[in-house]
Amino acid sequence: MALIACEECGQPISQSASTCPHCGARTRHSRQFISGVVGMLLGVIVVYVLVLTVGQLSNGGSQRLGQSMASSVPTQPAKAP
Ligand SMILES: [Zn+2]
Repeated sequence: MALIACEECGQPISQSASTCPHCGARTRHSRQFISGVVGMLLGVIVVYVLVLTVGQLSNGGSQRLGQSMASSVPTQPAKAP
């Protein structure tokens, strides 16, 4: 467990500590952790929106394709032999 100097008060604090026990300032470690969590959440949200958008697009495309195929199929009654 390495010790680093607090950016605010300069006291030696644990590298794994999220806040300085002397002055309560947040360490670089906690900032990186928070930014990482925020970035991960943003990434998850972006992927979620992308999946929803692509899913809607593919659903609409297949529906349009099915409708166009159904309308192109002639609806004439079967010829009697
Ligand atoms: Zn401090």
